[in-house]
Amino acid sequence: MKLHNGTLYWPTTNTIELNVKTPKQPKKQYDAIVIGGGMSGCLTAYELIKQGLSVAILEKRKFGQGSTSANTGLLQYSNDFMLSELIQQIGEKDAVRFYQLCFEALDDIEKIVNELPHEVDFLRRPSIYYASDKCDANKLRTEYETLYMNHFPCEFWDESTLSFYMPFKKPAAIVTFRDAEINPLKFITSLLTYLQDHGVDLFDETEVTDTSYENQLVQLKTTTHLFKAKDVVYTIGYETKQNAKKEDTIFNRSYVMVTKPIETNTHWHEKAMVWETKRPYLYLRTTAEGAIMAGGMDENIAEATVDEKDIENYAEKLLQQTQSLFPHLELEVDCCYASIFAQSKDQLPFIGAHPKKPHHYYLLGYGGNGTVYSALGSKIISDLIAGRENDDARIVSPLRKVGTDSLPFSSIA
Ligand SMILES: Cc1cc2nc3c(=O)[nH]c(=O)nc-3n(C[C@H](O)[C@H](O)[C@H](O)COP(=O)(O)OP(=O)(O)OC[C@H]3O[C@@H](n4cnc5c(N)ncnc54)[C@H](O)[C@@H]3O)c2cc1C
Repeated sequence: MKLHNGTLYWPTTNTIELNVKTPKQPKKQYDAIVIGGGMSGCLTAYELIKQGLSVAILEKRKFGQGSTSANTGLLQYSNDFMLSELIQQIGEKDAVRFYQLCFEALDDIEKIVNELPHEVDFLRRPSIYYASDKCDANKLRTEYETLYMNHFPCEFWDESTLSFYMPFKKPAAIVTFRDAEINPLKFITSLLTYLQDHGVDLFDETEVTDTSYENQLVQLKTTTHLFKAKDVVYTIGYETKQNAKKEDTIFNRSYVMVTKPIETNTHWHEKAMVWETKRPYLYLRTTAEGAIMAGGMDENIAEATVDEKDIENYAEKLLQQTQSLFPHLELEVDCCYASIFAQSKDQLPFIGAHPKKPHHYYLLGYGGNGTVYSALGSKIISDLIAGRENDDARIVSPLRKVGTDSLPFSSIA
């Protein structure tokens, strides 16, 4: 399954070399095996070794070549589903708790970044969430009040405040603080180096094709070796498409355009990340290399188009939208790509144990805040494997009410 097509940006920026030292043979058994060597897999392995477990990561491609390479690296505590909307859906206690988990996940990612051997371009940034039209301004006011009342750091900007700080006029905006940007590929390349140095066995080009049980262990059949583990964690990203039930998960196609570096980028308040209330939304960030990365134009098509001309046309549209917000900048497309993108119907990730298969766990960070979900999910999975109580697991459980009784991944394992 092709997860993306076109020219990705992050591989052109990744100066960190990953020297994978795959063992000739796997260990006789591992405490835990993580299937999938992307953002979710690396963060899960990190949490598991913190509790002293022996861990291997099995990746069917090269590490990081899944959706992690396409990830635009905006780390935000606000979700595509506003807190005020989530409260309507799952009640105040759980909705606020979920937002808190996202907020705390940003601190957790920062702590991990500080332990890594390389610079991974993690920078705290505010986010500006603007009302795309007048009728959304009231919605934003309600959302601001909900966030503020629940102690999330934010401000409400009216039209004139927004146009003072940014070069565009929009009816209103919420500014959220303590968000961050990152280079996701540098992050996981450095994290994999760290993991390997801390005893995690890395196996790339190793696809898990089946699992079974033998002597109370999970046995994993792969394209290279036979593996055994007490527990397995599926962090296979959007690859579940073949098995997903359409009613539970929405697979879209999304586009990303990156400009050539801009010499002087002025009148962009604190290089804030920018997004909007319209759906599908346009979103923007700057990069450590001085480029602008813009994404959006999602379509309800579950394949990344292979047509280069098509991708270029969408990039041109994203460039025009970016230019209309920042008319004073001289912008030119440098690279662009199309990607598969998955969301759950209720906008929450699927994290937890398989209901019928003991010792099988899933971390599927579906949604716009995938990295934040991967981080908060890795802690939940680590607690579940250790047999520790985790009250938050209920909120994101694959068995939750709005989720699914026919799990999107039930036929994989
Ligand atoms: C265009 C785009 C922009 C995005 N922007 C953002 C953003 O700004 N902020 C954000 O937080 N999130 C963003 N996301 C979401 C984010 O990319 C995902 O949440 C994240 O990449 C998921 O990481 P993952 O490790 O779960 O998946 P992946 O990176 O896809 O990793 C899963 C891995 O599992 C491997 N695998 C699958 N099946 C098997 C098997 N059977 N055996 C072995 N290996 C297997 C795959 O090869 C893959 O490498 C974006 C996504 C897209 C597509």
